Amino acid sequence: MNDMILLKLGELVLKGLNRHTFEEALMRNAKRRLRPFGPFQVTTRQSITYVEPLSDDCDVPGAFEAMKKIFGAADVCWCRACEKDKEAMLSAIRDFLSDELAGARTFKVECKRSDKTFPLNSIQLAQYLGGELDDLYPHLTADMHHPDLTVYVEVREKAAFVHGTPVPGAGGLPVGMAGRAVSLLSGGIDSPVASWMMAKRGLSLEMVHFFSYPYTSEEAKQKVLHLAKLLTPWTGRLVVHVVPFTAIQEELRRSCPEELFTILMRRFMMRISAEVAHRCGAGCLVTGESLGQVASQTMEAMRCTGAVTDLPIFRPAVGLDKEEIVRISRRIGTFETSILPYEDCCTVFTPRHPRLKPTLAECRRAEEKLDVEGLVKAAVDGIERVLIEL
Ligand code: ATP
Ligand code: MG
Repeated sequence: MNDMILLKLGELVLKGLNRHTFEEALMRNAKRRLRPFGPFQVTTRQSITYVEPLSDDCDVPGAFEAMKKIFGAADVCWCRACEKDKEAMLSAIRDFLSDELAGARTFKVECKRSDKTFPLNSIQLAQYLGGELDDLYPHLTADMHHPDLTVYVEVREKAAFVHGTPVPGAGGLPVGMAGRAVSLLSGGIDSPVASWMMAKRGLSLEMVHFFSYPYTSEEAKQKVLHLAKLLTPWTGRLVVHVVPFTAIQEELRRSCPEELFTILMRRFMMRISAEVAHRCGAGCLVTGESLGQVASQTMEAMRCTGAVTDLPIFRPAVGLDKEEIVRISRRIGTFETSILPYEDCCTVFTPRHPRLKPTLAECRRAEEKLDVEGLVKAAVDGIERVLIEL
């Protein structure tokens, strides 16, 4: 018989938002992520999503790892299946939870019976199993209020399932629930973290990467595509829009004041990203900016970059220290790739003294000489869309 995985939904979230939409989105995402691991049935009842393998060949450990990365699940747990028979349940508990039973001093048993044909009700079953465990493990005492270990038993249609304390899930909201965003993905540490943070809040992402061939290399591009790949266990499949950016950078270097180069370049990034958003039905932009980190991340600079679009720009790392960003990036597994030493387009033609407090008026003045619309259109027309599968 197969084991099963339970996803416990974030309850606080369910109060505020449409619960049904939340559950549907979570189940849809779970089904997609489960595909590589064999056939599973996914159902939800009372804030719990049940992931049941439909064949003995299903890769349950693989599925369990994948379910830990599903946004919207507060807790995840792996359950042992057994016959719907109280002796079988007892022996499944003893076998599956042997370490937990050995390590705890106090315990309780909680039962749920969705199969109403099972002869004992939940309370009777919990009393039976609790009594037996109490006898079998002399070091254990029952404690209904603050037990070290809670043994959970679910009597479902096809089988009974036992499990112990769940492990923390990815939290957040199911991807897609909050709509769609365009996320600006460089090869650095911050933007993969920012993308992850916003996917966690329920945004489905379209990635944009600005590529300055031959100033930046094919390896630099592959690194960014690899970063996107590392995000897919959380975000689902991703499209990376690779934007040819060389012509714009060369034009800016030719015709604009050097100290404004970076800010003007970033205004183009925002314009192009907003156009991509328009084309793919996204309603906001995401960047990895952090206040004060570099010259283009002062509030004055952010005002200048934000002014080219009316889309909201989410900068979830804006209030984080580099240390905090690094910690998240290690946790989600992007750090080692992010620190690979390939150049980013932002480091091409970096001015010696970038303006820390640019004004909107001087940006606009500098751009008067440029065919802004034409440059944006050419860049957007040249986009290469790369699909990153899970
Ligand atoms: P990161 O670590 O994410 O590269 P950073 O500290 O290097 O960030 P900047 O280079 O100023 O900061 O970039 C700020 C943000 O602008 C990035 O977090 C990213 O969202 C976006 N960005 C920068 N370069 C690119 C690029 N080549 N393609 C797409 N987005 C970019
Ligand atoms: Mg960067």
